Amino acid sequence: MNQKGILIVVSGFSGAGKGTIMKELLKKYDNYALSISATTRGPREGEVDGREYFFKTREEFEKMIAKDELIEYAMYVNNYYGTPKAYVEEQLNAGRDVILEIEIQGALKVKEKFPETLLLFVTPPTAEILKNRLVGRGTETMDVIEQRMKRACEEAEGMEKYDYYVVNDVLEDCVEHVHQIIQAEHSRSYRNIEFAEHIKRDLKGE
Ligand code: 5GP
Repeated sequence: MNQKGILIVVSGFSGAGKGTIMKELLKKYDNYALSISATTRGPREGEVDGREYFFKTREEFEKMIAKDELIEYAMYVNNYYGTPKAYVEEQLNAGRDVILEIEIQGALKVKEKFPETLLLFVTPPTAEILKNRLVGRGTETMDVIEQRMKRACEEAEGMEKYDYYVVNDVLEDCVEHVHQIIQAEHSRSYRNIEFAEHIKRDLKGE
């Protein structure tokens, strides 16, 4: 059936566990490609340039915007974040499902540009669990944590625009859930118009 890769956007509150889910998904299955974003935020401890992000200065980032090298970009808590175009196109053409882990403004821009994009929203079971995860991560100051909780409230307003919700309670179940949603998406009738045409001709003996 459908051999073309699907573009998937995964959003969710900061601390919802998107990164961990994606890492596990890629470890378990090999048809997924994760896009690496560019950002002006500084690297957290343990983050490597070109692995978690391409870390850029504001000037470098603005040059990428000017050269139209990004599919989308957005400002998030005072920093730019954007998706480089070349890698995404290359992987989709090679038949891989490409995952963008981006916030809501960017997600909606991608959906507008590419209406066939699958939008997934990851959420923790409760607000308390979210805050505990952010504090437990130990990489942000209380001030930034408060900003991220506030941003979560704003982002929750846009949840209805997503195609599916994924509640991150038990990690393993969550990874499997994401995989199943994507696999089912491959069977959507509108993604398989050529197949339908083919079987119709076949039935008529053409
Ligand atoms: P963090 O600083 O925690 O790594 O990311 C902050 C937020 O930026 C997260 O919600 C993350 O999904 C989002 N983000 C990461 N890369 C991109 C991107 O390329 N574009 C957009 N619009 N958001 C991104």
